[in-house]
Amino acid sequence: MYDALHHIQQRIALAAQQSGRDASQIRLIGVSKTHPATTVATAFTAGLTDFGENRVQEAEEKITTLSAQRTQLTWHLIGHLQRNKAKKAVQLFDYIHSVDSLELAQAINRHSQELGLPPRKMLLQCNVSGEESKEGITAQGWQQDAQRCQAILTLAQQIGALPGVVICGLMTVAPYSENPDEVREVFRSLRLLRDQIAAIIPQHPCTELSMGMSGDMEVAIAEGATMIRIGRALFGERSYPPQGQYGDSGL
Ligand SMILES: *Cc1c(COP(=O)(O)O)cnc(C)c1O
Repeated sequence: MYDALHHIQQRIALAAQQSGRDASQIRLIGVSKTHPATTVATAFTAGLTDFGENRVQEAEEKITTLSAQRTQLTWHLIGHLQRNKAKKAVQLFDYIHSVDSLELAQAINRHSQELGLPPRKMLLQCNVSGEESKEGITAQGWQQDAQRCQAILTLAQQIGALPGVVICGLMTVAPYSENPDEVREVFRSLRLLRDQIAAIIPQHPCTELSMGMSGDMEVAIAEGATMIRIGRALFGERSYPPQGQYGDSGL
């Protein structure tokens, strides 16, 4: 674990250097889905503090097991969130990266207010590549499509008006591609969309770009990623439970 973490930190440092960025501006999220709490504990001992999970129930077990370390850990929900699990998610996670509708944001807002919690940090998940298998707000071709662009901005404004949420930035999952230019275009498009949204919701710190995984983190860093979500390169290959359960199309 120390070696894997060190290796990723070196990759981050090199990628940051090559694009003239400060590596301290890039937060490493270890994606611990399918791995047990003991793996998270080992990674924490090695120096990792941010963890990403796909499913609320699976995360709950780990977060509960590691409750003694709760204040030192930052938990990120990176998988699709159903509205009926919003209450639980609001209580468990520090960041919800997968907000993709007004209805979901409203549910998060309502629960955070009812529970007396501070405004919940969230990212708006955008489907920039247009792949049907991907979750997220439809954002393919937004730069050429004024109507689509306006729809996204309106949605961001409506979510931004909710008192119980803080919009921290945008999140996307790039398509699996051998062609780095294609992936780069997706990340660049998300960055430009973040800039547009940030300009119309100045009351929110809309600065984060959650993008980049084990296979494309260098490209993501070059395009401005502030949060990278790394699973396999840190924890090894995942052995999957029955298909469909993770809803992440084998990522
Ligand atoms: C599984 C997953 C990751 C991690 O992917 P790796 O290829 O294992 O690094 C990142 N983001 C999301 C949304 C995921 O579902």
